[in-house]
Amino acid sequence: MNVYDSELIAVQMAAAGYQQTSSLEKADLVILNTCTIRAKAEQKAFSFLGRLARMKKKKPGLIVGIGGCVAQQEGAKILKRVPHLDLVFGTQAIDRLPALIGKIEAKRCRIVDVAMSENPELFDPAPVQQNQRPISRFVTIMRGCDNFCTYCVVPYVRGRESSRHPDNIIREIKTFVDSGVKEITLLGQNVNSYGKKEGLLSFTELLARVQRIEGLLRIRFTTSHPKDFDQELINAFQSNDKLCNHIHLPVQSGSNRLLKRMNRKYTKELYLDKVAKLRDTCPEIAITSDMIVGFPGESDADFDETLDLMRKVEFDGLFAFMYSDRPNAPATRFKAKISETQKSERLQILLALQETYTKKKNEALIGSVQPIIAEGFSKKQSSGSLNESNQAAQWTGRTSTNKIVNFYQDDIPGNCGDIFAGKIVHVKIDKAYAHSLWGKPVAIESTAEDLKGEKSYAA
Ligand code: SAM
Ligand code: SF4
Repeated sequence: MNVYDSELIAVQMAAAGYQQTSSLEKADLVILNTCTIRAKAEQKAFSFLGRLARMKKKKPGLIVGIGGCVAQQEGAKILKRVPHLDLVFGTQAIDRLPALIGKIEAKRCRIVDVAMSENPELFDPAPVQQNQRPISRFVTIMRGCDNFCTYCVVPYVRGRESSRHPDNIIREIKTFVDSGVKEITLLGQNVNSYGKKEGLLSFTELLARVQRIEGLLRIRFTTSHPKDFDQELINAFQSNDKLCNHIHLPVQSGSNRLLKRMNRKYTKELYLDKVAKLRDTCPEIAITSDMIVGFPGESDADFDETLDLMRKVEFDGLFAFMYSDRPNAPATRFKAKISETQKSERLQILLALQETYTKKKNEALIGSVQPIIAEGFSKKQSSGSLNESNQAAQWTGRTSTNKIVNFYQDDIPGNCGDIFAGKIVHVKIDKAYAHSLWGKPVAIESTAEDLKGEKSYAA
């Protein structure tokens, strides 16, 4: 969501006459978009702001702004704490940013704008910037959250849940697709409740409309809340041929006692039942999740329940976090806090267990041929230059199940034609690593057919 919001910020400031630079030293305006989901994210934001003090001394005309969730949470307090800061703007002030910066330029004043509007349409769809031609983009379909999980700060810093109008979402995706985007990820804190409050389309109806967009090859979404995850969405994985074979379904804990204290509104049994139904319909679906260790009061028995759930589900991947007290979140006031040492120990146990499943799932793909969309050169190699082993450029892409696949350009059979970002490449998987797969391309196609991972075939 922050990536998407940063893109909106960049688009807004471009319209106001600013250009992006990759050099901090060259910048006349620095805007820090922040996250406050855990204390560590917030600390990082403040340490970065601290670094900017020296820059501002050297360049007094520099304008420094902070936006996002830390800004929303702390408001005017940040101006006191950071004397070289010019602007604090909240999560719903992005559309006012050019006016706020204009005022600072003209009057050299300091401003705080953390007003909440609850309008999910910040402004017109973000045009794709010409210098960046990604094939995959995020699209926010709803903002805020009404679920109030007791550990979570989101409802307090992002406001109440509100959904964008489907026409605006479709228009935005079409704009992206016209500029070469092949895959979009729809974003919301709980996509299952999309449009319900406003009486708009249901989420699966929205997915069906997105599916009809010509030129778009793949659809992903995040996040579905297990309490609302239902058969209608399970069916969409079968009926919507652009919907990828992956779901992120955060469970947070395997202990019913803790799930209740977290206000998650489902039990371990209900979660397992939904996973079973999902796998019944889509046996090859990849399931990933979020887990919190060390929630206040978490006993050894609670933690064992979490490990037991992991053994039963065998997730494809897991984001695991040590519980962190957040301002306003009720769990901050809960007793029986777990020590940092114990949290860390539990995290290591959990990650070690997950590693076995991630490895197992990745190894199961060895020998199969996976259709991926070539996204560009892999991280290690951002240009087409030769790499260490003197092979040609190393490409990267993802399977429908969201697993990273890398391969050498030189391995593409001669009669396959040219490769460029956005092409569908069929890659035979040779090796499985902890976080990626390695393979040999066997064919390149340019149509959307056979994109779903479950149609992979043995070679
Ligand atoms: N809306 C999503 C859901 O309901 O699962 C989650 C969104 S939250 C931005 C991302 C993840 O951060 C959560 O799933 C949770 O695991 C983690 N998280 C949130 N608050 C946390 C806290 N106070 N301490 C540790 N992890 C936290
Ligand atoms: Fe936070 Fe819960 Fe909302 Fe997710 S559903 S954003 S965890 S309050």
